Amino acid sequence: MNFNIAVIKGDGIGPEVIKETVLVLNKIGEKFNHIFHFTEALAGGCAIDEKGEYLPKETIEVCKKSDAVLLGAVGGPKWDNLSGDKRPEKALLHLRKILELYANLRPAILFEPLKEASPLKDEIIGKGIDICVVRELTGGIYFGEKGSKENGKKAYDIESYSEEEVKRIGKRAFEMARKRKKKVISIDKANVLESSRLWRRVIEEVGKEYEDVVLEHMYVDNASMQLIKNPHQFDVIVTTNMFGDILSDEASMITGSIGMLPSASLGKDSIGMYEPIHGSAPDIAGENKANPIATILSAAMMLRHSFNLEKEANAIEEAVTKVLNKNYRTMDIMSNGMNLVGTKEMGRLIIKEI
Ligand code: NAD
Repeated sequence: MNFNIAVIKGDGIGPEVIKETVLVLNKIGEKFNHIFHFTEALAGGCAIDEKGEYLPKETIEVCKKSDAVLLGAVGGPKWDNLSGDKRPEKALLHLRKILELYANLRPAILFEPLKEASPLKDEIIGKGIDICVVRELTGGIYFGEKGSKENGKKAYDIESYSEEEVKRIGKRAFEMARKRKKKVISIDKANVLESSRLWRRVIEEVGKEYEDVVLEHMYVDNASMQLIKNPHQFDVIVTTNMFGDILSDEASMITGSIGMLPSASLGKDSIGMYEPIHGSAPDIAGENKANPIATILSAAMMLRHSFNLEKEANAIEEAVTKVLNKNYRTMDIMSNGMNLVGTKEMGRLIIKEI
């Protein structure tokens, strides 16, 4: 099959990790008989430098015409003195809005060979951790009415959700759980918030369409504690924009390695944006030190969620596990007795396993 992918390398380590990921996708194409067409587009700091704006019109057009968007990272000290609404990172928020990407999927996976990178004790980690946070991305308090009164002495941000918004993110979570361990934990603050009571009611209703999936509810304060105490009780977490923002960072931290974690942002069509959770890491840019695995695993999510290529996605994930089991590590996940490799070498090792 043929697929069109918009490629936004971005800034800092973005171009380095994207380069390895494109090579991995080409290998998958060769092995499974697909053709991936890559169209490069500018966004972030490099777009400011070349075109004078962080998200040029051509980039938006390229993304809209593609089946999926693969992104490295944007931003860096060079553009830090720009005012808030001109900063390169704004490109991401705009793209998410333009492409109507309302669901943010952030798997927090702790691979067994990387146990020592987690701040949790061995007996809590067991054989590794595999949680997927499904965060609502275009509603809630971040997008609600906001303002200030009394000459700036009071300020407010309103949390608001419609049934439709909750229903569509709920469905995403249950569909995801069906492909995993068939358990959804919905996280809210329904003991206090009216919007959470609506959230809980609608998630319950959606859950009735998925009788094969177990549904539980948890208050957000308890959830933040349970993630540390017993992460194995979680399979898919579905939650609001703000709770998801906080809990997905907590969940990723228990895996201990920012260079390993992928993410997907999905909308109503199959088009999605796939990117590592880390930033542009200007401190190591251009030094062949960046871990490309988060971006490579983001490409695996693209194959699974936008192109429905499950076998191909598994091939990438299995190759990553094999390379880790053979004790190859980039600097960020390095420990005693392991073999240190750079960005390019890590990419090539994964391709070899595929
Ligand atoms: P960062 O994620 O770029 O880096 C934090 C630390 O983690 C650094 O020490 C870095 O070297 C390390 N690191 C990150 N990714 C790594 C990788 N793949 N391999 C090895 N080490 C890695 O976060 P930051 O330093 O807070 O931000 C740097 C720039 O990136 C800022 O301009 C920020 O706004 C931007 N940013 C962009 C995104 C994005 O594009 N999605 C996300 C977060 C931050």
